[in-house]
Amino acid sequence: MLGEIRTDPERRRAGQLLVLAFLEDGDRASIAGKLKRIKDVLPEAELSGITDKRVLYHDPDDLVDTYTFLFFSEICAEVCSFPASPGQEERAGFALLAKLNEVSQPRGVLVFGGGQEFSEEDFIFSISGHFPKLPFFGGRAGHVFYGDSDGAMAAFAGKELISDGFVCVLFFGEKLKLRVTYNLGWTPIGRKMTVTKASDFLVDKLDFNSPAEIYARYLGLKPFQVIMENIADFPLMMQRGGLPVCRNPIVIFENGDLMFISPVREGEEYRLSFGNPEEIKKDILKDVSEIREFVPQAIVITNCLTRTRFLGEEEEKKLLNLYYETLPETCIFQGNSELYIMDKAGGELNCSLVSMALREGEPSPEESVLKPWETQVMSDEVPLVNRLITFLDRISGELEDKADEANEASEAKSRFISRISHEIRTPINAILGLDEMLIRESSERQVREYAVDIRNSGRTLLSLINDLLDVSRMESGKLRIMPEEYEVAASLKDLTNMISFRAKEKGLNFEIHVDPDIPRRLYGDETRIRQILLNLLTNGVKYTMQGSVILTLEYEKQGPREIDLLCQVEDTGIGIRSEDLKRIASPYVRFEETVNRNIEGTGLGMSIVTELLGQMGSRLMAASEYGKGSVFSFRLSQKVVDWSPIGDFSNLYREAEEEYRETFHASRARILVVDDMRLNLTVIKGLLKETKVQVDTALSGAQALAMLRKETYDMIFLDQRMPGMDGIETLHRLREMKYQPNAQIPAIMLTANAVSGAREAFLAAGFDAYLSKPVDGKKLEKLVMEYLPPEKVELSGKKQPADREAGQEENGAPREEGLLDVLKRIPDFYPQKGLESCMGDEEIYRTILKEFGDTADALAEQLRQHLREGDLKLYTIRVHALKSSARIIGADGLADRAAELEALGDRKEIETIKLKTPDLLSEYERIGGSIREYLE
Ligand code: ADP
Repeated sequence: MLGEIRTDPERRRAGQLLVLAFLEDGDRASIAGKLKRIKDVLPEAELSGITDKRVLYHDPDDLVDTYTFLFFSEICAEVCSFPASPGQEERAGFALLAKLNEVSQPRGVLVFGGGQEFSEEDFIFSISGHFPKLPFFGGRAGHVFYGDSDGAMAAFAGKELISDGFVCVLFFGEKLKLRVTYNLGWTPIGRKMTVTKASDFLVDKLDFNSPAEIYARYLGLKPFQVIMENIADFPLMMQRGGLPVCRNPIVIFENGDLMFISPVREGEEYRLSFGNPEEIKKDILKDVSEIREFVPQAIVITNCLTRTRFLGEEEEKKLLNLYYETLPETCIFQGNSELYIMDKAGGELNCSLVSMALREGEPSPEESVLKPWETQVMSDEVPLVNRLITFLDRISGELEDKADEANEASEAKSRFISRISHEIRTPINAILGLDEMLIRESSERQVREYAVDIRNSGRTLLSLINDLLDVSRMESGKLRIMPEEYEVAASLKDLTNMISFRAKEKGLNFEIHVDPDIPRRLYGDETRIRQILLNLLTNGVKYTMQGSVILTLEYEKQGPREIDLLCQVEDTGIGIRSEDLKRIASPYVRFEETVNRNIEGTGLGMSIVTELLGQMGSRLMAASEYGKGSVFSFRLSQKVVDWSPIGDFSNLYREAEEEYRETFHASRARILVVDDMRLNLTVIKGLLKETKVQVDTALSGAQALAMLRKETYDMIFLDQRMPGMDGIETLHRLREMKYQPNAQIPAIMLTANAVSGAREAFLAAGFDAYLSKPVDGKKLEKLVMEYLPPEKVELSGKKQPADREAGQEENGAPREEGLLDVLKRIPDFYPQKGLESCMGDEEIYRTILKEFGDTADALAEQLRQHLREGDLKLYTIRVHALKSSARIIGADGLADRAAELEALGDRKEIETIKLKTPDLLSEYERIGGSIREYLE
């Protein structure tokens, strides 16, 4: 055949010969042999092409090589190679750009990709904008999948095989005309999905779901049915530069990832698509008819295997025959993916047919004879498939619009809730802070009672707002777990304090069983764990009319530094029906609304609990018997910081009932508190009053900096959010400021944003610690004590008389103080309890106190005497009486000592009694003296 060509008169007349070879893939030697033969016979010919996979029309045994010979009257084609390694396609593209700038009047570039994992897109995209009218088209080398798989997969540049890079045929010249189009006919269906994870040729996630899940859902496939046979008819489709582009997966992995032979990118929006035979036909008819008008001298077509598969061989042959009828020498090859890029639109394609028609100069009259083409009579009847697709599309479009609207509304709602909650929290914080001062400072019993009520209601309100905030965070996916080290006992104490009060109020029995061996210090999100337990316990109390609520805490060791905390909340309440139990995690849902209408609640608690546990890798177990009660439990993995056991929790719990007493004095210390809300400043000042720390305040960052320039402070509290300079900026300016006495000052951030991200934020911003609002008095004191210079801090375990005078002389005049105020300064003395034991009647309490004070010295003397005389029996009776009267007036510390000595007396341990009595008696006399001093 080659011989014939050599002697062909056409060839003799031709100014140039271009040979395009599409060769059955095989080993390099045999392919190189074929190319060499062409070049040997036709040394002057430009030669290019690729190894091809033409597996569908023929049996593998029938695979054929095709050669196309294009005779040009002038020189207008040049073959160039552009080697590249994967990832360097763009650089190779610039070499092509340089070449294109050399040739005169480029008309089109036929691109052949050699090797695997090369992106023709990357090769062409960046340069296509430089020649906006120039079409780039072609295909990648392919090979027969079920044949010998180690073929050359090469593109040809003359005799050379390029398996790592690209070969281009540049068409150019004034007379040359090229018409390149691509035909698709695949139609998108369903909603848009964003590629949320992709790497090279793999799509891992669409809208955060694995592609396998998406195919399973939309095509109604069972997991084992998600196989290529079922999904290949629905390739993904996207737009690139305004042109629709299909991606047909070639492999679906077990983990659900999809592999393609062309690049996919994160952030692209894909829809499923399917081949619409009517559209395919229409496109081809249009293409062929335009090509006929063009009067081609050559046609080169890249055709996708998927089309054959989809249309069926017969149907497709009919369509392809239209090209053959136009020009019998039409060359059709397949390759791996088709390329069409024009002015940065398009790309590597699947499912498409790219056609190139070419001619030199204007058609002669006799050539134009070919032209007539019986245009198809278009009927008014729209094919059923088209109508069905439109139907599907409209429905899903409508649903999508609705969903968009709903999403928008829901996002707006979440934003609103989040904003309004922050707004509400600010004034509540101020109310609670001021109220705390009332509770501490008021001497009027009635006022204190009102204030305690305000505190309780305020806290309820705050927790409601916090629940709302949590739900809006949950809905926007912003609820985060933030582990840190914590003391188990402290956490439990807080919890117990909050619940026992409510249980008592309702006449319920609140029990708490804590395994004494639970490690003392753990690492986890204590705030959230407490929130979960508080929610469950509050519900327990709310939905129980009589009986008890029981909290049980146990643990299981899981590793050298790890335990599972086993938490359980049990109640004897109204219970939950089993059908309701399933829905307990849904937000806003409350059961038995009519029965429970008097019980406050939002239906948010359980959904927050479920979400939080889920984020901590746990799950809420719920069991309930309607009318009998419920048990909620969960298991939480926690790291252990300190294995020493927390011990008997009931002892610890008793301590928790203590009233406020300042933990230290630091009258020489001076701190600066900065907040734009005057009320917040008043609260902090008030909360620190008893510690005698000097508190200066500033209402803005600027004011603070001015003060910090002049005065020396021991620490600074900065509100995070302030108008103008915020806390972070203020701190940064302070740290940068030269010539000032506070360069190294510890800085604490005040933040209302305690839950998400606060810790990271303050650390990153250079703060030493943070304190969340509403400011908790104990935490505030603890922080101040921790960060003040130790030499300025005096611990106040025992009361010093000097302190009391200093307190009275504040503002120049002695302050009006109530009975409780004075008495509560006595260490281990709880006048509130004493008052309670007198049913709140201050008169009675006074009388009892007077009696206690007046008789103290004499009774102490009696006890000493009994001991001297060795009369253990009398001693024990007297010490027992002392225990009871001390308990009645609220002198718990003294009562405890007396109880210990009473027990020793019962056991006749005279030596220990002798050892311990002096301390008991001196305390007895001291308390008696203090009481007398006050009552006078
Ligand atoms: P709520 O704010 O209404 O208490 P939750 O989300 O905490 O909301 O609980 C959802 C619903 O589950 C409640 O309205 C109540 O009907 C039911 N429920 C929760 N805990 C208990 C319990 N311990 N006993 C009985 N019913 C409960």
